[in-house]
Amino acid sequence: MKDLEKIISILKQRGFVFPSQEIYGGFKGVYDYGPLGVLLKNKIKNLWIKDVVFRRENIFLIESSILGLRKVYEASGHLEHFHDLLIECRSCHQRFRADHLFEGEYGEVSYREGKALCPLCQGELTEARTFNLMFKTYIGPVEELASEAYLRPETAQGMFYNFKNVLNSMRPKLPFGIAQIGKAFRNEITPKNFLFRIREFEQMELEFFVKPEEAPKWFEYWVEERFNWYLKLGFKKENLKKYVYPKEELAHYSDATVDIYYNYPFGFKELEGIANRTNYDLKRHSEYSGEDLSYFDEEKKERYYPYVIEPSVGVDRLLFAVFVEFYDEDEIDGEKRNVFRFPPFLAPIEVCVLPLLSNRENLVKKAEEVYKDLKDDFICVYDDSGSIGKRYRRQDEIGTPFCLTIDFQTLEDNTLTIRDRDTTKQERIKIEEVKDYLREKLKF
Ligand code: ATP
Repeated sequence: MKDLEKIISILKQRGFVFPSQEIYGGFKGVYDYGPLGVLLKNKIKNLWIKDVVFRRENIFLIESSILGLRKVYEASGHLEHFHDLLIECRSCHQRFRADHLFEGEYGEVSYREGKALCPLCQGELTEARTFNLMFKTYIGPVEELASEAYLRPETAQGMFYNFKNVLNSMRPKLPFGIAQIGKAFRNEITPKNFLFRIREFEQMELEFFVKPEEAPKWFEYWVEERFNWYLKLGFKKENLKKYVYPKEELAHYSDATVDIYYNYPFGFKELEGIANRTNYDLKRHSEYSGEDLSYFDEEKKERYYPYVIEPSVGVDRLLFAVFVEFYDEDEIDGEKRNVFRFPPFLAPIEVCVLPLLSNRENLVKKAEEVYKDLKDDFICVYDDSGSIGKRYRRQDEIGTPFCLTIDFQTLEDNTLTIRDRDTTKQERIKIEEVKDYLREKLKF
């Protein structure tokens, strides 16, 4: 197992992920992203948009609001169904999600006189009570039912209540999709496992609307597409798994669900879910809003509610998987090295330019020139502090795939060396060929 504590510490030290509001004692289940974390996160989101939206026909990207009316979540079923069972220990006051407790996540549960005991202190447990996971707030100064609003627990509802807006403005025919990336909030009972279960997170969701009879076919299609996307990102196949939900485990809106699991340091867990949500959402929003959200099929000359296939993944959960998947340690010339072996297209910093020696004006001047020229086209940094070996290690630790070194030969023949992060091998190329070389290597 990779050392999670060590990875988390590197991520903090090197500006990827910070525990939020730490100077005030921290905020459980909430994280901030530092400069490198944001670069990586944006790359992941852009790759998703590229693959899910722009490489296809008829998929439209929207951005809906985070604040939602009570009515929306009555219609979606979240007010009625979106809760977990909470159990508390009367002695140590630890709170548990009932399903996690009895699945053995905290160790084996023992019993006294038929009653389950706290696995941490053997204390008595309370009865299970339901706990809605949505964050509630009030709009305006008066706290009353009419002003009640919710932070969205998923981005999906924005795609459903905007169904008609997209249909009328873009005029697509089935099948078509509405996609969105954005924040979602869940008041998780026990946020834990770093970025895996947090209270404020980002989702990338697609609602793909289809003819009802074609739903099973499209469901299979999206399960395969999404699974293959992770292989394309560079994940090892043995670290991914599909979990097919048995009927009794399906959510209230779902006809079929497959989760894609990733091999996290604490075991295989859900990374993405793909669900056939049927026509539940469009029907419910039609019913609760009074607005008809059905679709008129011109070929068939009939009106119906499309079915919808939904692939949904959390950006933070995916980022966590990326950190675990690509972190590595090895030895270079007898010295230990920490390295993130991100595929080049994912690397937060794509290229670093370094003068071999920082006290030679002509080398520094040339290196700065190269750096300035590359900065327009690539995410590029410049580093001239410390020995060249130390500078390479620093870039390895943040996953920079290419280091360009300006040396004395550069001044003679306008070539430089490109060092590959994984092999540490260097090859010499002409400066005018650098951009094409990098572009080729950074392709997704
Ligand atoms: P879980 O069973 O783990 O609570 P879920 O099945 O409720 O998750 P979905 O409602 O299917 O999750 O949400 C879709 C995706 O959003 C998940 O696959 C996950 O990647 C992400 N996600 C959900 N909850 C969280 C969370 N608390 N923190 C981070 N990501 C989350």
